[in-house]
Amino acid sequence: MIVETLPVGLIQTNCYVIGCEETGEGAILDPGGHPERILAAVDRHNLTVKYILNTHAHFDHTEANGEIVRATGAPLAIHPLERPLLEAAGGAALFGLRADPGPPPDLELADGDELEIGTLCFQVLHTPGHTPGHVCFYEPEEKVLFDGDVLFRRGVGRADLPGGNWQQLLDSIHRVLFALPDETVVYSGHGEATTIGEEKRLNPWLR
Ligand SMILES: [Zn+2]
Repeated sequence: MIVETLPVGLIQTNCYVIGCEETGEGAILDPGGHPERILAAVDRHNLTVKYILNTHAHFDHTEANGEIVRATGAPLAIHPLERPLLEAAGGAALFGLRADPGPPPDLELADGDELEIGTLCFQVLHTPGHTPGHVCFYEPEEKVLFDGDVLFRRGVGRADLPGGNWQQLLDSIHRVLFALPDETVVYSGHGEATTIGEEKRLNPWLR
């Protein structure tokens, strides 16, 4: 499986270009800025983009949605509970920033949905707490999880932004993410990758 991590935008949010080596089908996850770098990575891996995926609508994960949709023609997918935040330009105004709200989504994601990308099959996991419609993408054969701003290496997502809920965030981590195998590699929205097992043992927020 192809996984390229691209820290993009003002706060170096991780955008992921992912793909199936056998078929050349791919997806772009959380295009938060620097669309030209994202598209260059897609070209470098010779991928046909099947989906543009947003874990949630914060501007640092969505700001390049418009340019990426225009360049690839691929459908944009997000959970419907993120619509208000997406339409409010991902909350950029809260940080004194202006952002492009981008196009409306083409696909609404729901917990339990499966997304085929070549021979890969991602499960959509609804993990509210950071935002109401936050989702993670899990590939059980490859044992990889793209988890946006829920769980970080030795950290957890903020629950103090509008729509956030600390108890929900903890519940999403303990009940949904910690039910995955320990060896699952976690690719987060910020910082380095980790594993579920490592965070169960070492994450100071989750003791
Ligand atoms: Zn966020």
